[in-house]
Amino acid sequence: MTDTLNVAPEVGASVLIDNQNWTAQDAADLYHLDVWGEGYFSVDEEGHVASDHSRTGSTQIAIARVVERLKQRGVTLPVLIRFQDILRERVAQINTAFRDSIEELGYTNRYIGVYPIKVNQLHEVVEEVLDAGRPFGVGLECGSKAELVATIPHLDSDETLLICNGYKDRDMLQLIVSLQKLGKNVIPVVEKFDEYELLTDVADKLMVNPKFGVRVRLSAAGSGKWADSGGDLSKFGVSMPELIEMVRREKDGGEAGTLRLLHFHMGSQISDIQALRRAVKEIAQIFVQLRKRDIEVQYLDVGGGLGVNYEGELAGTGNAINYTLQEYANAVVQSVREVCDAETIEHPVLISESGRALTAHHSVLALEVAGSYAKHGAPTDFVPAEVDHQLVHDMWNTLDWMASDNSLRPAELLEAYHDAVANRQEADTLFSFGYLPLEQKALTDQLFWSVCQAINSRLQDNPPDSLPDELITLNHRLVEQYLCNFSVFQSMLDHWAIGQRFPAVPLQHLNRKPDCKAVLVDLTCDSDGKIHGYVTSNDENSYLSVHELKDEPYYIGIFLMGAYQDIMGDSHNLFGRVAEAHVYFDETEPDNFYIEKTIPSTTIEEMLALVQYFPSDLFRRMETIVKSKVEQGLIKPTAGVQLLDEYRSCFGDSTYLQR
Ligand code: PLP
Repeated sequence: MTDTLNVAPEVGASVLIDNQNWTAQDAADLYHLDVWGEGYFSVDEEGHVASDHSRTGSTQIAIARVVERLKQRGVTLPVLIRFQDILRERVAQINTAFRDSIEELGYTNRYIGVYPIKVNQLHEVVEEVLDAGRPFGVGLECGSKAELVATIPHLDSDETLLICNGYKDRDMLQLIVSLQKLGKNVIPVVEKFDEYELLTDVADKLMVNPKFGVRVRLSAAGSGKWADSGGDLSKFGVSMPELIEMVRREKDGGEAGTLRLLHFHMGSQISDIQALRRAVKEIAQIFVQLRKRDIEVQYLDVGGGLGVNYEGELAGTGNAINYTLQEYANAVVQSVREVCDAETIEHPVLISESGRALTAHHSVLALEVAGSYAKHGAPTDFVPAEVDHQLVHDMWNTLDWMASDNSLRPAELLEAYHDAVANRQEADTLFSFGYLPLEQKALTDQLFWSVCQAINSRLQDNPPDSLPDELITLNHRLVEQYLCNFSVFQSMLDHWAIGQRFPAVPLQHLNRKPDCKAVLVDLTCDSDGKIHGYVTSNDENSYLSVHELKDEPYYIGIFLMGAYQDIMGDSHNLFGRVAEAHVYFDETEPDNFYIEKTIPSTTIEEMLALVQYFPSDLFRRMETIVKSKVEQGLIKPTAGVQLLDEYRSCFGDSTYLQR
């Protein structure tokens, strides 16, 4: 068999490497780590990917050490490691970027960041953001009834802002208005005109004059994958005529409610800064026009969308952003200031709802490679026997011809490849009609891959544009598959759904040049369950540079996982939530860290309950089967009891492989 599962491959597509000149910086460059890592990650002297605390690199945590310590504590992989200090630092960085911009550009009002909990609702994440954000007055944003219920009790100060986006029913509006009566700074953002009328009705009944905001449907088009969240195609927002009608009613004084906030959201991961500038200028213009009509709007909320540099390049297309955090803050502050100053209108309080940029960096998914599927060539000393099929001899002759001549040109190598392909096709046909024994078929497969590997290694020094297409794709066909203990559908849904690339990097051995090419595949029985795009400086991004597997654990980290992935993950093949660990930097602790908390992964019992299978019923059925087999004499009673014990103990296991 050619594509066999092999924990320690003997022959692969690997090329021996001279490691003498390989440095940690070469490894960082290969995986674009310095770009997407934003100073939070680096390669340490021992070749580990490390999380940097001080951002100067003086305090590093080797992530593989965290993984080992978690395993000692009985935590099963995959595990999502949260570096809580990175989360805190992101809060400070985003707020400081706006503060710096406000000071530098002479903006005369302040900035409030609100955290949209939809991005990562985990309680610890929300509490950490609020705690780190206290000196900056950070608030929260909710987008549903459940999120409203979760966020309200976290408004410990009356000043703390809670922005309520998303469609709201009467109950939600009543709750929000009642909170305003208590003195809480909760602002419902009207998503459509009907909601405004419902709010008005609620306010009338409660005899209050609530403050509210409006999400405006701008004409400025968004950019990036989520561009349709704003503009004409958006399912949210009030149109300009509807806004004018609201303003008319407010001015007439007949309606309850005070418009205090203007909001837009262009979609997540805005790729192009110019698109953001246009939208901010448009909303600022609306603000100015309303102020000139004596509508006391105070807040201008530019929504989320601050992007994360997942791709390790500043391209401005697709998922790749073309700006830095500081440029984003400057673009917002400067655009509002310019529009207001032109009409001598006071600057509003600026709000942004950045979620992705706040949370993405702090969590890393650590995976273990469970084995590899290699394209096995024939043993190097193989010589066909007289009894072997003619096709085996033909294939071997091709290989022998290549071995005897080191000066073959690409055209001759292509001819060798064509011969090997023709021989393999013929072998397949003969096998399917029963004329070729299984062992001979296996030999032709092995020799085919030997020819491919030999051709491929001869081509390494030729520039790709000088080679025929068939030979360029050979490289791709020879890539190994590394089977990883995780589910793409549970842990990287955006990769499966929209092709979002997340940086993947081997967590150790980076003091050696990676000598294999691999595609990472998951445990699910779905051919989509693999990572098909990598962030790398290789010519192609369809494979990951890795090391050949040895008889020891091999860990891979998937980075920038903190935004959206946990909560959107689905349960394909009943793989559940992965284990989690909350890690803090501490220079006084061994290896510079301590694990504050671990959260076990979902058990098989919990996953089964989601689809209405319950242990008592399953166990009773299993008992009936075993009992009947004992009665039939197929199994001894002791063995039956043991089998039932083994079955029962699975309920408490993780849904992932235990190694
Ligand atoms: N605000 C609103 C209204 C949203 O819908 C979203 C998510 O798309 C966000 C904020 C968060 O956006 P991001 O995570 O891109 O900052």
